[in-house]
This record gives sequence, structure tokens and C-alpha cells, in this order.
Amino acid sequence: MTDIHGNLLAIKTEIAAAAAECRRKPEEIKLVAVSKTFPPESIAAAIAAGQLDFGENRVQEAESKIPTVRSTAGLTWHMIGHLQANKAHRAAELFDVIHSVDSIKLARRLSESAAGLGKTLSVLVQVDLGDEPTKFGAEPGRIEDLITGIRDLPGLKLDGLMTIPPFFEDPELAGPYFVSLRDLGTCMDEKLPGCLGNRELSMGMSHDFAVAIRAGATIVRIGTAIFGSRTY
Ligand SMILES: *Cc1c(COP(=O)(O)O)cnc(C)c1O
Repeated sequence: MTDIHGNLLAIKTEIAAAAAECRRKPEEIKLVAVSKTFPPESIAAAIAAGQLDFGENRVQEAESKIPTVRSTAGLTWHMIGHLQANKAHRAAELFDVIHSVDSIKLARRLSESAAGLGKTLSVLVQVDLGDEPTKFGAEPGRIEDLITGIRDLPGLKLDGLMTIPPFFEDPELAGPYFVSLRDLGTCMDEKLPGCLGNRELSMGMSHDFAVAIRAGATIVRIGTAIFGSRTY
């Protein structure tokens, strides 16, 4: 059996070490435990170990899992996967933070739903920094318009940026992508002061989170290193 408690402790130690290397405080870095594909029992084990932030990447899967652990007070649910506009309403109901906003259409849908539910959704803009454009994430050149549009939406609070770099065997090679996201955030904050709310940088996964922290990550999204490898 996977030692979820032990894995969480080990990750927290590594987060603290990476933070210390660049003279950052470990409390500046939020650990989101990515529970996708794992059953509610795994989530319960992480909660028992003190973990309160969880990430899921599919609305349908989250729908069947979140209600079963909802009674636990103080949990924060993060939607980290690609979100289709037609699933926005359900996502607005289930989640507290959406990391994957990449179009104004999606942002509008989320805002309408959140406003209707009487809640304010925290959102991050997902940026596609790869050399070949992928299906997900907005290109850097579109970020300013997107931010400007989101600022006017009543149901959303824009809190920062998120990226998923291309996969590299050597995690150090992801470093430049993380630095680019940070620089983009700084640039946007200079142009539109305060536009990025809490100024979160959601970047870094199991194999490269230390590199991301050294580049300024404030949220790391970690699955495998906590829950074990996924079988689909
Ligand atoms: C699955 C996933 C993660 C976690 O990946 P691990 O390598 O298991 O840590 C992080 N971010 C996103 C967007 C994911 O889909």
C-alpha cells in the first residue's frame, strides 16, 4: 500500500529544501494534492495527514468524488484540467479554484454560473508556453486581452497564472518555461497593476516541482509522488 502520509511528509521536506535554496519561505508555496484517478479512500488518507488542497482534472470524475468527502471542513478543490465551456456550470459548483481558464468564452460561462451560485470563483489563466501551440492554454500574446476581459466579470477573481511545460526527462530543462511564466506575470502586473490578485504561479508537478519553486512557483500540483503511479 502507498504510504500517503509518509509521501506527504517527504514532499513537504523537499518543498522546504527548494524554498530554502532560493531564500523563500516554505509557507509561500501551496501544495495541491492531485487525486485524479485515485479513490475517495486515498483522499481521506491525505486529509487524515493534514492535506486540505486537492486537484482534479475532470469534472465528471470530480462529480463522483467531491461529494463523498465534502463533509470535511476546510477543503479547497482545484480544477487543473482542460475545461469545456459546456462543463463550466458544474465546475463552478464543485470547485473553489479553476487553474485552466484559457478563453474569454469559458471565463464568461464560469462567471455567470458563479454569480448565480452567489460565489466568487478564484481563477488562474493557463498559459501555453510551448514552441508548438497545444490545444490547451492561451498563447502569451493573448494573455493581456484575456486578463482585461476577466477583470470585468463579476463572478470571478483572477489570482494568477498557470502553465504545464513540455515534458523533459531532465527537469532542469523545464526551468526556462517556469521563468517565462513568472516574467509574464511581472509584465502584466506592471501594465495592469493588481490585475493578478494574489499573484499565484501554479507550476511544477512531481518530477519538476523543485525547479518550479526556484523559479517562483507559489502553487505546486503533485499527484504521483503522493498517491503513487496512476493506472488508467
Ligand atoms: C496530473 C496532473 C498533475 C500532477 O502530475 P504528477 O506528475 O502526477 O505529479 C499536475 N498538473 C496537471 C495539470 C495534471 O493534469
